[in-house]
Amino acid sequence: MALAGTAATPDASAHLEEIGGDAETGRLVVVSNRVANLRNTGQAGGLAVGLAETLKERDGIWFGWNGAPDGVTGGEVQVERVGPAEQVTVPLSPKDVAGYYLGYANSVLWPLFHYRLDLVDYRPAFYESYQRVNETFARQLMPFLKDGDLVWVHDYHLIPLARCLRRAGCRQRIGFFLHIPFPPPDILVASPNHAELVEALLDYDVIGFQTQADAGNLKAYLAERSSAVQLDDTRFRVGTRTVTVDRFPIGIDAQGFAAMTREADDEVQIDLMRRQVLGRRQIIGVDRLDYSKGLPERLKAFDRLMAQHPELEKSVTYLQVAPPTREKVGAYGDIRAELEALVGAINGRLADFNWTPIRYIHRSVDRAKLAPLMRGSQVGFVTPLRDGMNLVAKEYVAAQDPENPGVLVLSRFAGAAEEMHEALLVNPYDTDEMARTLYRALTMPLAERRRRHEALLDHVMRHDARAWQEAFLAALSGATGSAARPQQAPS
Ligand code: ADP
Repeated sequence: MALAGTAATPDASAHLEEIGGDAETGRLVVVSNRVANLRNTGQAGGLAVGLAETLKERDGIWFGWNGAPDGVTGGEVQVERVGPAEQVTVPLSPKDVAGYYLGYANSVLWPLFHYRLDLVDYRPAFYESYQRVNETFARQLMPFLKDGDLVWVHDYHLIPLARCLRRAGCRQRIGFFLHIPFPPPDILVASPNHAELVEALLDYDVIGFQTQADAGNLKAYLAERSSAVQLDDTRFRVGTRTVTVDRFPIGIDAQGFAAMTREADDEVQIDLMRRQVLGRRQIIGVDRLDYSKGLPERLKAFDRLMAQHPELEKSVTYLQVAPPTREKVGAYGDIRAELEALVGAINGRLADFNWTPIRYIHRSVDRAKLAPLMRGSQVGFVTPLRDGMNLVAKEYVAAQDPENPGVLVLSRFAGAAEEMHEALLVNPYDTDEMARTLYRALTMPLAERRRRHEALLDHVMRHDARAWQEAFLAALSGATGSAARPQQAPS
């Protein structure tokens, strides 16, 4: 397959040099599957808060699906002004929610990109719907774009969007950031659409990944299967265009999260005091209930820890918060059933009238409670089987008391492991190693905990959500890719 010279639309090129976006002054147009509520970002993570603030400063737009399952694809666009920013949402039909969102995005790309070929449910109709929705989004976004805008597209739902926008005549710079992992070529090619997906990616000016490894996987694919020419570490010549492929590891609103731990929540404080009186320590996990998070493996490791160290009985509790997501996708029902059975079996065997070893919360928890809960937990247990970054790992570090910090036990297969070297890194498939590491974390001397935490906190604070955003936008505004876009017939 030849990827080089992927077709661009005829008028995409002509005047970009004069028009091109500017990181300092141009409007920012964020496009993502779901739009964060710009009026109320209290429950949102650092990403949404950071982008929402930038949009308000810059007079930008956030465009995406309105989240309702019963609209009409291509139907009425809703525009809500929030300060100088606009929140623009569009509807989707039940058929496209099933095909584009639950289907291609979450039953094909999500498992494929998380290295779970066994869970991919490939159907041609899903791909058709995915394409149709991207084309419709592009058509509905076009009238909102102005000269000089920087368009920043987020995540796996919208890989073909730049291609669709170019075909609709968009000349602005367009960047793409993938929040989830990008698999190596051997896995990617299991998708019947791998060639089209990568060709579509190359219509962006900047393609951003969470890690060096993810960027390396795309580079390996391009080297093996395309005629794209690598110019230097991050730039490729694709036909007559230049495309940047780089890593932009995402950060959290670290100051904001740390501040939340200082606003003590009464219920959390009482729980903490009770544990302190009883001399009980807590291991905490906070994840969406997703098969990529390695939750059954964590429960087994905790069980193994208890088997190997019976002296820890009644002195350690594992709190796992795991709210439901994507319940209409079959694989999520399976993981829920597996987890509930495991929690029941382990608690049934170990619990006593005055001790429940595993506390499992299957619902969302207010962030104002989550932060102090993390601070009050001596171990942050973050061991996904595969994760783009994992923000919880960074939140756990930001939440700790620097004088008496907890220990982060982190999967080698989370993107965060590429940066967070002072965490205790584990293989999430290795139950014995995880149990040993939990023990090490629970018994780590204060001086070592402080030393590790200091380095981690410094990193998390410096590389926060704002730094991430600025790095990406600087790359996008400096990108020269589309300026060289040739006059070609649309493909
Ligand atoms: P993913 O994006 O795959 O869900 P991340 O760890 O990168 O995983 O990000 C998850 C975000 O959602 C974090 O900001 C985390 O605090 C938040 N979150 C996860 N679980 C819960 C929960 N039970 N209640 C509230 N927020 C949660």
